[in-house]
Amino acid sequence: MSNQNFEAKLKELRELFTSTLPDKMAEVLSLWENTLEDWTEANCKKCIFELHSLKGSSGTLGFKEISAAFSDCESKLKAIHDFSQSPESELVFQLKQAFDRLVVAQEKLLSTNQQPSKVSLRQNLEPSSKILKPSDIQVLVVDYERSSGELLKKLLSEFGFNTSYAKNLTQAKQLHAETKMHIVLLDLVMPDCTVDEIFSFAKDLEKQNTRAVILSGQDNFDVRLGAIHANVSDFIVKPYQITNLVAKIRSALLLDLVRPFKVFLVDDQESVASYFQSTLQAYDMDVKVLLDPTKILESLKEYDPDIFLFDLFMPEVNGIELAKIIRLMEKYDSIPIVFLTSENTIETKLEVLEVGCDDVLPKNISPDVLVKQVSSRLKRGHELRYLNSRDSLTGLLNHGQIMDAASSALQLGIRRRTPTIFAMIDLDYFKAVNDTHGHAAGDKVLMGLGQLLLQHVRQTDYIGRYGGEEFLLVFPDSELEVIKQKLDHIREILSSLMFKHGNKEFNVTYSAGIASSEDYESLADILIAADSALYRAKEKGRNNVQIK
Ligand code: GH3
Ligand code: MG
Ligand code: MG
Repeated sequence: MSNQNFEAKLKELRELFTSTLPDKMAEVLSLWENTLEDWTEANCKKCIFELHSLKGSSGTLGFKEISAAFSDCESKLKAIHDFSQSPESELVFQLKQAFDRLVVAQEKLLSTNQQPSKVSLRQNLEPSSKILKPSDIQVLVVDYERSSGELLKKLLSEFGFNTSYAKNLTQAKQLHAETKMHIVLLDLVMPDCTVDEIFSFAKDLEKQNTRAVILSGQDNFDVRLGAIHANVSDFIVKPYQITNLVAKIRSALLLDLVRPFKVFLVDDQESVASYFQSTLQAYDMDVKVLLDPTKILESLKEYDPDIFLFDLFMPEVNGIELAKIIRLMEKYDSIPIVFLTSENTIETKLEVLEVGCDDVLPKNISPDVLVKQVSSRLKRGHELRYLNSRDSLTGLLNHGQIMDAASSALQLGIRRRTPTIFAMIDLDYFKAVNDTHGHAAGDKVLMGLGQLLLQHVRQTDYIGRYGGEEFLLVFPDSELEVIKQKLDHIREILSSLMFKHGNKEFNVTYSAGIASSEDYESLADILIAADSALYRAKEKGRNNVQIK
């Protein structure tokens, strides 16, 4: 969503708020009158609940003055604990005044068409989960030793990155000013500058949203501490494996994000939910909104979130109870849970930490702070999951994960009545590659194919390493012919790619078999079908794609 769309959406939400405000105010005032007439805890609580919601939604939408007025009434009512007798006249007087001020604030808002405090997206905050491909990526190698710097540049170029080389910081700064780098690899030993100057450059880079990675010949506490202070993305000790370095670059730039981050937002107030949804969507996150928290289990069947955002106060179940339910489900026990509330007190913070949740953010948070808070948790979670679970060589889903993804994609497709296409890809004569060029060369091919596949599928597709040199791809809501064309296209690219290992050059091909969920009963049957189509492709001489 562009900034313009975001502004338009925000305007719409604010208009909705002001147009429904008179009704909501009438409701609150009648609850307050009920409370005055019939002084019971139940009546008082109803009134507090309504005030609390309105405080939150007005605050979120930037109507600060009326939000403060709602808050004042709420906190005065909340301070009352004794319902055995009518409240003191002094207290009633104070409450009446607070409600009078609320009415004044409402009239002011509606009559002057009061402009809310400006809420807009900051232009310079780049979408944090924007998905990049290796070919979009500018890498800068800074190394005083020309031969090792040029070698690294060459290797990284082979992995598809746009790589440049600089001999020192002056050159590096110049190149970065000409072309904004995504990532800069910094050697720590440069005779014409100090280590502190290198760290200070690294820090500047990170501030400009360019990842800085230190490649260090020495490993001691001081340099590691310096790296932490400079806020660098990674610290790699030499010598390192090139495939490892590539994996770290991919991880720092979130290249293996095969889909946008998924946020599951639960808030009973539609305007608030809609506002947060628009804000996060503007940064390319995928946001599912649930207004009725009691429906969470059904919703989770169709949506696999990377983070939960819960409203803290909701009528039937509160956010904490909801979080406890989620935390007891093994599948979600490590997914971050963050609360949004207008009640941002230290007590609330402690309470959420106790139930194993991550943080509490105020509902009137500015959009860029919200995005930063959410995306820093998403990135950390992504890295942890990535390190723990991905196939370590290719960075693709591992066997277990692709099977899970295949099974849920199939279920979702059946429910939505859309075909899901499954493809099995196997490298041709791969044993010969290993035998001729060595296992390391074979590994390079597997990584290369992994990246090639990642670059050519949609964000909603899944790619996994099914076995040694066999890959399983899942394409939700697709057609056999379309996938055949796509796999033929990738196949042609692969066959024309020259792999270099040592001083030898070689190329490889693959064969593939595809099958559609429309023609089979179960996942097992579909996979058997794709596999037998693959077998046919091999029989036909390899380097081709067959439909079952
Ligand atoms: P075909 O065209 O019939 O598929 O022939 P092929 O040689 O590719 O098939 P085969 O199943 O005989 O050999 C697969 C080879 O893949 C054998 C194995 O050493 C290699 N392989 C499997 N996993 C890895 C890996 O992780 N790294 C490397 N380098 N090789 C692997
Ligand atoms: Mg093979
Ligand atoms: Mg095989």
